[in-house]
Amino acid sequence: MLLQISEPGQSPEPHQRKRAVGIDLGTTNSLVATVRSGTATIVNDEQGRALLPSALHYDRHGLSCVGYEALEHDLSDPLNTLTSVKRFMGRGLADVALFGEQLPYEFVAGSDSGMPKFATAAGAISPVQASAELLASLERRAELALGGDLDGAVITVPAYFDDAQRQATKDAAMLAGIKVLRLLNEPTAAAIAYGLDAGGEGTIAVYDLGGGTFDISILRLTRGVFEVLASGGDSALGGDDFDRAIADWLRAELAIDADMAPAQQRQLLAIAKRAKQQLSEVEQTQLTVGEQSLILDRDQLATLLDPLIAKTLRACRRSLADAGVKLDEIDNVVLVGGSTRALRVREKVADYFGREPLCHLDPDQVVALGAAVQADVLIGNKSGDDLLLLDVIPLSLGIETMGGLVEKIIHRNTTIPVAKAQEFTTFKDGQTALAVHVVQGERELVSDCRSLARFELRGIPPMTAGSAKIRVTYQVDADGLLSVAAREMTSGVEARIEVKPSYGLDDGEVTRMLQESFSHAREDMAARALAEQQVEADRIIEDIRAAIAVDGEQLLDADELECLRKSIDELQQLRETTREHRQLARKIESVAKGSETFAARRMNAAVKKALAGQSLDQLEGEL
Ligand code: ADP
Ligand code: MG
Repeated sequence: MLLQISEPGQSPEPHQRKRAVGIDLGTTNSLVATVRSGTATIVNDEQGRALLPSALHYDRHGLSCVGYEALEHDLSDPLNTLTSVKRFMGRGLADVALFGEQLPYEFVAGSDSGMPKFATAAGAISPVQASAELLASLERRAELALGGDLDGAVITVPAYFDDAQRQATKDAAMLAGIKVLRLLNEPTAAAIAYGLDAGGEGTIAVYDLGGGTFDISILRLTRGVFEVLASGGDSALGGDDFDRAIADWLRAELAIDADMAPAQQRQLLAIAKRAKQQLSEVEQTQLTVGEQSLILDRDQLATLLDPLIAKTLRACRRSLADAGVKLDEIDNVVLVGGSTRALRVREKVADYFGREPLCHLDPDQVVALGAAVQADVLIGNKSGDDLLLLDVIPLSLGIETMGGLVEKIIHRNTTIPVAKAQEFTTFKDGQTALAVHVVQGERELVSDCRSLARFELRGIPPMTAGSAKIRVTYQVDADGLLSVAAREMTSGVEARIEVKPSYGLDDGEVTRMLQESFSHAREDMAARALAEQQVEADRIIEDIRAAIAVDGEQLLDADELECLRKSIDELQQLRETTREHRQLARKIESVAKGSETFAARRMNAAVKKALAGQSLDQLEGEL
């Protein structure tokens, strides 16, 4: 798609202006912005606050409040206080189960929707409904400030959002009565915000680390024209994970039982988050949990965050490779998202890219500002051709072929809008129908990709196998939404489908399937966790037994050996009998601890041997 944006200040007559806003519907925080006198500005709430925490509180009468007010209920009434709803948008129960056991919510499968719903005092609330309330709240804020009904909005989504997640976002806007001008990738919006200021030429990396998602986009700017070369990231990594890492550390340091009530869990997370944010300002901070307290300093924080930051940098490396851009070709790095306030993140990003990242716009606000600029253009308040923008699809779109394999039709990182066609033929003589199965993902097997839709092309005239010519066309519009058409070329028979999530809104059968999977979801999660621990147990048992066989007798005395053997036997027995993954995990940990001495001695012995070998080699060399 081509976007046209004119010089600031060259907008049409004021009375012709339409009310358009940009909305950053965030996992953690949401914002709304609009263009006023040629400049994008955040619309604050009546108390002058820019952020709307993406939180909702429900009571038995329905929605009781949103935003900061809702957050106040987070500790006292966690089950009725929804946060991070965005993580569930367009997700099925199977996806939700993958989030692990950290979820402080209860779920039910909705009767009219396959998307899991949150069980609240007000009844079952879907992620789409909850998001619609957040959007409606921002809409009211904007209408109050702009003095009338909105004409349209650009809503941002992570570049990584798939079709189902984008559709769910559109549904939420529809429910809120907002006309969506376009969905826009968040990093792209940030680039627009910066592009207007900087102009010029160059290659830019947009590093967006929010509360729940990480996005990296590689953009190229030529003569004021932006092109998104590649986008990647991790849709389940962000500041929330920082909080969890700190909370886990706290729990370990203070020896707090791992089985905590949701309220306790959240309290610990809140303490962790506060400490994390303080450490952007001060060198160290004291954390207090009940009677106990503990100091967290920047070094310790860095130790906790580094593995998570490293994950983001690996994603950066992948996207650079996708874009075919070398590290030293990056001219600018743009920081987006609240988590880029963490000093360690800035440090590591600067290290990795070998330059100081740009952050002169507020990292919380960039996305909404860019979305506002785009909304202003799309609604027709501006004209001109200063800025062109190309967007890409994040995941490949393909079709199922014989043997459960995927044939990719549109490859990931293709710029949109795009239409691509491919020809297929029949498999059997006299075949009159063809099943089209649309999938999304990079893997070779259908079972490893996400199923988006299925439909049938019927009425193919009977022919011998291989002589029908069926052209399947995939088309992705500017919002990143897909429609698929299949046409038999000799007869002109055609079938098409707008791709909706496979757990679409009123498909009774899908709903039933999901309800079934829901009733098993908890067991499935527990079973998976147990299976993982069993694998871990087998691994450690085998490792230690093998080590004992090699040099247990030399390195351990009789008592030590006996003790180690006994603990392995106990682990083996527990592994066969327990259904409780936590119990097994604890035993594994104690066995691992119990074998540390042995491991250390083996290490020493190995080092000695290696040194001895080396000197022998050297000796031989000299002879
Ligand atoms: P999202 O895009 O997911 O809505 P935001 O961009 O609003 O998220 O970022 C929210 C995240 O930023 C939260 O995890 C929050 O704890 C984190 N954050 C805010 N301020 C700081 C800070 N000073 N240091 C570290 N993290 C911060
Ligand atoms: Mg964000």
